[in-house]
Amino acid sequence: MSAPQLESQLASVNQRIVEACSKTKRNCDDVALLAVSKTKPLADIITLYQAGHRQFAENYAQEGVEKCQQAPFDDAIWHFIGPLQSNKTKLIAEHFDWVHTIDREKIARRLSDQRPPEKPPLNLLIQVNISQDPAKSGVTAAQAVTLAKQISVLPNVRLRGLMTILEAQLSEQHRLAQFQELKKLQQALIKEHPDCKELSMGMSSDFELAIQAGATMVRVGSDIFGKRS
Ligand SMILES: *Cc1c(COP(=O)(O)O)cnc(C)c1O
Repeated sequence: MSAPQLESQLASVNQRIVEACSKTKRNCDDVALLAVSKTKPLADIITLYQAGHRQFAENYAQEGVEKCQQAPFDDAIWHFIGPLQSNKTKLIAEHFDWVHTIDREKIARRLSDQRPPEKPPLNLLIQVNISQDPAKSGVTAAQAVTLAKQISVLPNVRLRGLMTILEAQLSEQHRLAQFQELKKLQQALIKEHPDCKELSMGMSSDFELAIQAGATMVRVGSDIFGKRS
């Protein structure tokens, strides 16, 4: 996609966020747009950066790390939103700022052990399978409570909230209800874990609904960068 096209898609997604916030009386400073740049070239990321955008999300460890390292700037915020295997935790701990897909203690512990001491704690979100979709990873609400306790004692990571990916086929009404359920769980957890404020939910097809339900981070790929091949 050409640079002007990318800039205009970014502007239009930002505009939709502003409208969704105003419709639901939310402050749009409380909703961060993460540009999901997986499979897209670094040149596209640079174009968005030059247009003022700072937060990027990647799904694949190797690809994501290469982009962080090659980016000609060091003040962007990098989110890892893909499934995370044990053998990739070191790469992620060294290069990313946030990880959205924590679904077991072992991964959180490795990230804490492998976080370079000169860096601030790595920000973690627990991935909750709120749709109970057998095809999706993520923990149940009950498991999230246990996992949050386990994360809270790790020194070099910080539990910042919850993330979900909904089942693809749901109606709008069901999507909204499930986003609201995640919000409820977050509000229960924040009593024990005061930093657990973030809700990463909503993608190109449903981020307005997610904002309505309280999303603080929306992860948008195709509506910014165009379809992935
Ligand atoms: C790819 C991806 C997105 C972005 O999806 P779009 O529909 O392209 O906006 C968001 N979240 C996760 C976890 C993804 O893997």
